[in-house]
Amino acid sequence: RSRPFLTCGDCGEKLTYSKLSPEDKERIVTIADAMPVGCKYAAPIDAQGRPVNPEEVNVACPSCEKPLLKRKGRFGPFLSCPDYPTCNGVVNLDRKGYVTPPKVPPLETDLECNKCEANLYLRTGARGPWLGCSKYPKCKGRGAWKKLEEDVRTKWEALLYEHEKLNPPPKIKSTDGQVIEAGSEFAPMPLNEQEALQEDEA
Ligand SMILES: [Zn+2]
Ligand SMILES: [Zn+2]
Ligand SMILES: [Zn+2]
Repeated sequence: RSRPFLTCGDCGEKLTYSKLSPEDKERIVTIADAMPVGCKYAAPIDAQGRPVNPEEVNVACPSCEKPLLKRKGRFGPFLSCPDYPTCNGVVNLDRKGYVTPPKVPPLETDLECNKCEANLYLRTGARGPWLGCSKYPKCKGRGAWKKLEEDVRTKWEALLYEHEKLNPPPKIKSTDGQVIEAGSEFAPMPLNEQEALQEDEA
């Protein structure tokens, strides 16, 4: 089977084809990044051997505000900065493909998990504070917050409040500057498609 002769859009050199295992295909960006010299361009190909470049979408990088690229990782699609590895901006998508805004990192307590004795993490949930094992997902242990002594709860509630104030999660914005709130069911759209839509409306 013949492959089209293509040159790299980044450096102008001839592109070469490599056969990758299915797992490696998902890690193509990481593999390209580890290539020893020069240009790091790599892309999966379609049935005709043409590169399928990652799509630019209407979500801005939380660090540098460039439009993010939709990529496929081991745990499904996610958005990452076109300037990776210089910029590590990443936005996660949930199973339905909606943007999941980052959460406050959990607060580690000195309360023990009753399954594995590791420390429990304290987080704010929809129904108030809750305790989960710091070894999750290895250990699925939970702590009984409501069964703690009242003074213990008061102490940790105050510490959690301070912790959340000191560690606000970064706000995720669309490329037109709108803040994407948790639960707003924001599905990233390819940028060029969005431009086409706006032209139609005009
Ligand atoms: Zn190149
Ligand atoms: Zn970035
Ligand atoms: Zn545990």
